[in-house]
Amino acid sequence: MERIVLHIDVNSAFLSWSAIKLLKEGFKKDIRNEISVVSGRESTRNGIIVASSIPAKKLGIRAPMNLRDARKINKDIIVVHPDYYFYMECSKKLFGFIRSLFEEVEQFSIDECFVEYTPSRRMYGDEVKFAYKLKNYIKKKYGFTVNIGIGNNKLLAKMASDFEKPDKVHTLYTNEIKEKMWPLDISDLFMAGKSSTARLRRMGINTIGELANYDKNKLYFYMKSMGKMLYEYANGIDDSKVEYENRERKGIGFSRTLEDDTEDKNLLFSYLNTFSSDISDYLKKKNKYCGVIVVTIRYKDFKTYNHQIKLKNNINDKESIFKYSKELFNKLWNLEPVRLIGLRVTDLSSNNDIQLSLFDENEKVLKDKELDKLMDSINDKLGKDTVYKASLIDKNK
Ligand SMILES: [Mg+2]
Repeated sequence: MERIVLHIDVNSAFLSWSAIKLLKEGFKKDIRNEISVVSGRESTRNGIIVASSIPAKKLGIRAPMNLRDARKINKDIIVVHPDYYFYMECSKKLFGFIRSLFEEVEQFSIDECFVEYTPSRRMYGDEVKFAYKLKNYIKKKYGFTVNIGIGNNKLLAKMASDFEKPDKVHTLYTNEIKEKMWPLDISDLFMAGKSSTARLRRMGINTIGELANYDKNKLYFYMKSMGKMLYEYANGIDDSKVEYENRERKGIGFSRTLEDDTEDKNLLFSYLNTFSSDISDYLKKKNKYCGVIVVTIRYKDFKTYNHQIKLKNNINDKESIFKYSKELFNKLWNLEPVRLIGLRVTDLSSNNDIQLSLFDENEKVLKDKELDKLMDSINDKLGKDTVYKASLIDKNK
């Protein structure tokens, strides 16, 4: 049977989610239909736009433009500040729903995921018909729109969802590559960043089709593994799996490919913090504890390194997971720009017995656990995230 993968992507996620929040609070306008942006505060140096509406995009206002420059284009622009907690709630609701439909779901960022549709085809039928139903249902149920891309692998599905927006279903099957993908500009190819794009243009390659038909050996010679990968992508080749967690066995983990390589340690720690929180939520829901913590760093040359620690006492609270992940990160990081950051826990067990010991450390672990329980019970009563440590999600969106 032919493989089918879906890529589901929320349209202008941060802007749409803020629009919903504002409408709920009684704001009269739907900022999705206005010239509007989500942006940090101008008074600080963070007046950078993180998302813009379609009417704003039409004027050339888009992330990561400075808010001051945007005002020069339109002085009446509506500015909303980001609410990352609310965004995370929206994200969790959406992907919780999608996971209830499919076994194999890989969340790729706060607002996008891959679904291995192949095993569900017998149940849900034709993927295009189903994708339309799913898209419309999400719109009705949650009030925001998604694009769904359909392809024979992850790369094609991802490229397809990026075609015309918003609220659309697109296919990019292998036999459609030539017609639908090759005419596109090289910068539209997944993983073709600024520097690769500039390099390819210097070689006279401007469209995906030109790259696909270029001399493979020359590309590898000039651009090494990056050249090889982009060549394969341009030809629609990608045999990577939808990495859903077979969680009981492998443990659970999250990783994030950054849009731009970064040396900003605070940003990298903010990802570890978010991952720790999601991992802890999962473990607690399943009544599990982890015995091993693994941090992964991938650099821009695609070299990937792991570092792990075997714990004396199994844990499942986010503070401890975050603390160990930072220690591991500090040991592992060579100060080079990071392309991907990941955090995983394994050796899951239901055992939370604290070994009896005279060491104070164990007493502290017990106290931490009590505190954690308390925080959880407050959260359960008052709704999630009432008591919550600061975390930050995907600044780029
Ligand atoms: Mg999106």
